[in-house]
Amino acid sequence: MTQSTPPTPTTAAPTTLRLVLGDQLNPLHSWFAQPQAHVVLVLMELRQETDYVLHHAQKVLGIFAAMRDFCSHLKAQGHRVRYVAIDDPSNRHSLTANLDALVAHHGAQCVQWQAPDEWRLDQQLTTWGRQQPFECRAVDTEHFYTPRDGCARLFGTRKQWLMEHFYRGLRRRHGVLMTAEPGQVGEPEGGQWNFDHDNRKPWRGTPAEPADPRPTHDHSALWATIQAAGVKTFGNPQASAFRWPLNRAESLALLQAFIAHALSHFGDYEDAMATGRTRLFHSLLSFSLNTKMLQPHEAVQAAEAAYRSGHAPLAAVEGFIRQIMGWREYVRGVYWAHMPGYTEVNALNHQRPLPAWFWTGDTRMACMKQAVGQSLEHAYAHHIQRLMVIGNFALLAGLNPTELHHWYLGVYIDAFEWVEAPNTLGMSQFADGGRLATKPYAASASYIGRMSDHCQGCAYSAKIKTGTGTGKDAGKEACPFNALYWDFFLRHRERLRPNVRLALVYRQLDKMSPADKEALQAQAQANLARIDTL
Ligand code: FAD
Ligand code: SF4
Repeated sequence: MTQSTPPTPTTAAPTTLRLVLGDQLNPLHSWFAQPQAHVVLVLMELRQETDYVLHHAQKVLGIFAAMRDFCSHLKAQGHRVRYVAIDDPSNRHSLTANLDALVAHHGAQCVQWQAPDEWRLDQQLTTWGRQQPFECRAVDTEHFYTPRDGCARLFGTRKQWLMEHFYRGLRRRHGVLMTAEPGQVGEPEGGQWNFDHDNRKPWRGTPAEPADPRPTHDHSALWATIQAAGVKTFGNPQASAFRWPLNRAESLALLQAFIAHALSHFGDYEDAMATGRTRLFHSLLSFSLNTKMLQPHEAVQAAEAAYRSGHAPLAAVEGFIRQIMGWREYVRGVYWAHMPGYTEVNALNHQRPLPAWFWTGDTRMACMKQAVGQSLEHAYAHHIQRLMVIGNFALLAGLNPTELHHWYLGVYIDAFEWVEAPNTLGMSQFADGGRLATKPYAASASYIGRMSDHCQGCAYSAKIKTGTGTGKDAGKEACPFNALYWDFFLRHRERLRPNVRLALVYRQLDKMSPADKEALQAQAQANLARIDTL
C-alpha cells in the first residue's frame, strides 16, 4: 500500500477513512474541496470487483487506469491517499477485509463512503458498518439529478412507471429546454416534450461520421500487472492504444468534441447502424459519466447551450438530453425500487444458453457480427445495437436473461449494474414482465434492414421468412430474425395478446393460415437447433 506525504495536522479531529469506489472518480465532490490532515482517502483495486462477473479487458484496464490517475490528482492536491493496488502484497481483495486492516493500521475512529450505486456494494458496506464499534457513514455521491428513491416516490403504487412522466417533471424542476426559468410555469421548447419521431433516419454515408476524438493511452504496463495478478478477462484489451478517457479533463474534452462535431446529427441518426461504423454520432460519454469523471448536468447544460446558440437543432438536443436526464436517472430509480430480486427476473421463462459466438463474434448474421464483434473489440456498442440487434435476437431466441445480464455487465466499458440491469432485463428482455417497457422490443429483419446496411452484405436474406431465396437472393437462407420473431409472439400469445400495443401483431397472426404459422415455427425450431452455427 502506498501513501502520500500527509498535510501538516491542523486539527485534533478523529482519524477518518473515506472510501472512494472505482466508479466515484468525481473531483468536484465536496470531500475533495480541501485536504484535511485527519482524513485518509482510500482507493482499492480488488479481485472482488474484477471477478464478480467475467469482464471485458478494457473495462478492468479503464477503471484501474482512471483510479490511478485520480489518486495522482488527489495527491497533487495535497490529500492523504492510501491506494491499494492489485499486486499489493497486503491487499486482501475484499472491500471490507481491506477496510478492517486499514482501520487497524491508521487507528481510524470513523469510516465514510459515498453511497454505492450498486446494491451489492451498498449491502456489503452497510452490513460491515453496522458491525463496527465506531462511526460509519454513507454520504451522497453528489452526481445524479435525483435520489435513489426518486422514481419510487414519484410513481408509488402505480402499475406503469412511465419514463416520459418522470423526465418531464425533471425538465420542469430544473428548467431544462423550457421557455421559463426553473420552478416557474413554462412550456417545453418548441412546444413539444419529445422529438423521438424526428430521430429515426437511416444513415447512408453522409454526413460523414466525425473522427474519434478520444485520446490514446499506452496502458501496457498496467495490463501486464493485471494479468500477472491472475485476473481473467475477455475481449481485446487494446492496451497499447487504449481509447477511453482517463480523467475529468479528457472527459470534458470528449464532451466538447461531441457537442462541436456530432450533436447536431445525433437526433437524426440516433437509431441508425452501419457496417464498420462503431459509434456514428453517439457521444461515447457513458464511461466518463458512470465513473463520475463527468457530471450529467454538465452534459445537459452543454447540449442546451448548443441549442440556444443555434449550433444544434432542438430535436437532436432534446434527444440527447432525454437519454441523460430521462433514461439514465429513470433506470437508476427503477433499479433501486426493485432491488434485491430484480437481477433474477425471468417473466418469460427463457432458458436457452448464450450461443458460443457471443464470445467470438463468429456468426454469419451480419448485424450480429458487427454488434457483437465491435463489443468484443471496443467494449462498446451504441444503444440500438444493444437493444435492437443483440437484445432483440436474445429475446426472440429465448436466451436466458440472467446469462445475458452477466454478458452485458461484463462486456461494456460503461456497464454497472444499476444502469445495465434495467436496460437488459427490463427494456430489452421484458424479463421484468413490463415494469419498465410497455411492450417487448421485438423486431424482424425489416427493422434492421431499414435502419442499417447490414442486410445487403449478409449471408441470409432479410426478405424471406422460411426456406431459401430466389432471384437476387437465390441460395440465401431466410433471415433467422424473421421466423424467430413470429415464433416469439406465438409462443407468448397468452401473456402478450392482451397488450393493446401488440394488437396489430396479433391481428397479423390471426390473418395467417395454420400452415404458414406451422412453417414459421418449424423454421424457428430449425434455427434454434443450430444456434451455435447461425
Ligand atoms: P449516447 O447515445 O451518446 O447517449 C448519451 C448518454 O445518455 C449515454 O452516455 C448514457 O449515459 C445515457 N443513456 C443513453 N441511453 C440510456 C439508457 N437506455 N439508459 C441509461 N442511460 C442512457 N448504458 C450504460 O451506461 N451502461 C450499461 O451497462 C448499459 N447497458 C445497456 C444494455 C442494454 C441491453 C441496452 C439496450 C442499453 C444499455 N445502456 C447502458 C444504455 C445505452 O445503450 C448506453 O448508455 C449508450 O449506448 C452509451 O453510449 P454513448 O455514451 O455513446 O451514448
Ligand atoms: Fe441481420 Fe437478418 Fe439482416 Fe442478416 S438478413 S443482417 S441476420 S437482419
